[in-house]
Amino acid sequence: MKVLIADDSKSNQMLFRTYIESEGHEVITASDGLEAVSAFKQKIPDLILLDVVMPVMDGYEAAARIKKLCEKRNLWIPIIFLSAMVRDEDVVKGIEAGGDDYLTKPVSQTVLNAKLKAMKRIAEMREELERVNQKLKDLAELDGLTGISNRRHFDYTLSKECRLARRSKEPISLILADIDFFKPFNDSYGHQAGDDCLKLVARALAPLVSRAGDLVARYGGEEFVIILANTDAAGALKVAEKMRQAIESLAIDHESSLVSHFVTMSLGIATETEVENIKPEELIEIADKNLYKAKEAGRNRVIG
Ligand code: GH3
Ligand code: MG
Ligand code: MG
Repeated sequence: MKVLIADDSKSNQMLFRTYIESEGHEVITASDGLEAVSAFKQKIPDLILLDVVMPVMDGYEAAARIKKLCEKRNLWIPIIFLSAMVRDEDVVKGIEAGGDDYLTKPVSQTVLNAKLKAMKRIAEMREELERVNQKLKDLAELDGLTGISNRRHFDYTLSKECRLARRSKEPISLILADIDFFKPFNDSYGHQAGDDCLKLVARALAPLVSRAGDLVARYGGEEFVIILANTDAAGALKVAEKMRQAIESLAIDHESSLVSHFVTMSLGIATETEVENIKPEELIEIADKNLYKAKEAGRNRVIG
């Protein structure tokens, strides 16, 4: 661990340094609260030992500032006060200022290092919790088969992007894409091959959009949906055509398709330029109608 020690007494600094380094930790020192805050910003330690009474800025103030910075950066860095003040109120004040523990001087090497160990354990548990939370968030947003965004995440993102479009008055486009003759594909090659095909299609579509506010999601079954924020009809047509070609050039054999030897896709576009009263459902409805027209007109095409 990287441990920041803030104490105005050089002899205390040296003593604590010896204690802590003997356990194999790295030590940074500061001589007052202000120095502690700036050392924190520069070095981001894993743990902070703060003296309470220091010149320039006391330990309480430094702790409060450091905790605020931690909140902003979504960090948890334990702070232990080391003080000669032993009254209950001092301890309470320290904890309220953002301290995680309060030790009264003189502190023995054994107790100090036991506290470091305990704080390290808590820090590791919090990290693990963050990892698990992130994983849960991913699982809740991603489609299990293809790994791209799922319907739920799409619904959420579309509402958000519509709100942003209303505010920025920029157009927004939506593409609905559906694999042609996918039922016969499953019938010819089996469900497993069908699943593999969906994965390949998702992997081909996802990298074709990369602007902020863009999203490729699995809408359901063999249908995909693409949100294009700040994009007009001409832009959406370009993206959709690029997607159609990308799927065709995957050259996945499809013996029972009536329009090609390979797997193909039909795409319908909706673009809204009058964004004042934009409704997500209307965008989907228009894209769906155009998708239907693309199917009727012979599939493997884009209609906007
Ligand atoms: P069209 O060209 O008109 O779109 O015809 P289609 O056969 O693609 O459309 P239809 O809606 O009749 O059938 C869609 C088929 O997609 C039904 C099902 O067999 C298949 N499908 C949907 N979801 C999955 C999936 O997760 N895995 C697999 N393997 N197949 C799926
Ligand atoms: Mg379909
Ligand atoms: Mg289909």
